[in-house]
Amino acid sequence: MNAKELSEKLLYRKKSVYQRKTEQDVDNAFAYAKGYAAYLDAAKTEREAVSASIAMAEKQGFLPYTFGMPLKAGDKYYYNNRDKNLYLFVIGSDPIECGIRISAAHIDSPRLDLKACPLYEDSGMSFFKTHYYGGIRKYQWVATPLALHGVIVKADGTVLNVCVGEDEADPVFYINDLLPHLGHETDKKPLGEAIPGEKLNILIGSRPYGDGTESESIKLGTLALLHEKYGITEEDFLSAELSIVPALKARDIGFDRSLIGAYGHDDRVCAYPALTAILNESAPKNTLMCVLADKEETGSEGNTGMKSALLPDLITEIAKALGGNPAVVRANSKCLSADVSCAFDPNFADAFEKRNTPLLSCGVVLTKYTGSRGKSSTNDAGAEYIGWLRRVMDEAGVVWQTGELGKVDGGGGGTVAKYIAGHNIETVDLGVPVISMHAPCEVVSKVDVYETYLAFSAFLRA
Ligand code: MN
Ligand code: MN
Repeated sequence: MNAKELSEKLLYRKKSVYQRKTEQDVDNAFAYAKGYAAYLDAAKTEREAVSASIAMAEKQGFLPYTFGMPLKAGDKYYYNNRDKNLYLFVIGSDPIECGIRISAAHIDSPRLDLKACPLYEDSGMSFFKTHYYGGIRKYQWVATPLALHGVIVKADGTVLNVCVGEDEADPVFYINDLLPHLGHETDKKPLGEAIPGEKLNILIGSRPYGDGTESESIKLGTLALLHEKYGITEEDFLSAELSIVPALKARDIGFDRSLIGAYGHDDRVCAYPALTAILNESAPKNTLMCVLADKEETGSEGNTGMKSALLPDLITEIAKALGGNPAVVRANSKCLSADVSCAFDPNFADAFEKRNTPLLSCGVVLTKYTGSRGKSSTNDAGAEYIGWLRRVMDEAGVVWQTGELGKVDGGGGGTVAKYIAGHNIETVDLGVPVISMHAPCEVVSKVDVYETYLAFSAFLRA
């Protein structure tokens, strides 16, 4: 055996999807990306993702589930948790004690939330005060068009849906930045300090009500318009959830259109493959579940985050309805915690350890552990489970790679994996590598998105 043959036999070499797959496969990935881009544009907040996902599920015959319903093989249900978190499940033909195949992605993304008393005017302009949600680099949010999404709940319980800045005819919003001519002092500050959180104020108007002689007449002008459109007063902001997101549609990036630039790839780029994979399964052997979680970006807290008791509660309900022991069901269940990873970026090579960082277009990323500083706060998936998944993906021809989030002690991050694993469920992280994660416009490779879909499909069937 010569060295070339021996190296092919013994060495592990990462190859890209383009090297491993046919042109037809790549065409399939590009076609799949169109549906994903439409989902991104329809679902910029967790609430919008829940309603878009329910619409897709209902088309495939999924029905709303309520606790205590009888269940049988072939049933397809969704459970809408407070319009911000969605569970979908399909009952398989195998006994429920064989376990459930769970994929869990999150549908909240970093953004700017309005404060409870957001509206004020100053020096000829009216603004909204914000408190950012999730990990953002604040300097990325200034001087760019922004949209307003969310709900206002009036005192009588009426829920008003708000979406301004997405339609071509809509106005957009904006955060002021300092002109470079006067920016010399700011330019000397570290990036993280140049734009403090209290400067992330949203410019929303400048025309006064009347001739402007009355005090706060610009604020009044803004409120008059909101009253006309939504029937609200300033007090109604006290019971609202309004978010500022980039006013940007998903766009192809590059002459070859191989990449997608959009807001909120983290984590809709995993939510969409997880969702479409379960929607495409009919009469499965395994019982399947897809979780679209809220609040991942702020620590998975609250009754719509993955720390809530809803996941074990639902598993218990399903187990009981099918005559199984919930503890046995959990012990035999398997989960893919579907979240993004960072793609190696040659422009910031120093932040990564190249041998163990996902490469763009090299397929779906399997991440044994996340966390930071000595694997703190991580689910560290067992080699046996990874070995099983490796076999499943290889047999299905999925192009996959491993990866870690940056170099050791360079930072880090977490996912929902540890909360699910805490219920005695085999769990590992799997997802799409992203460039500029958490930026108002993030970038992914179309072929990676499609391999992620193929990985979920293979997992559900294995
Ligand atoms: Mn994420
Ligand atoms: Mn994130």
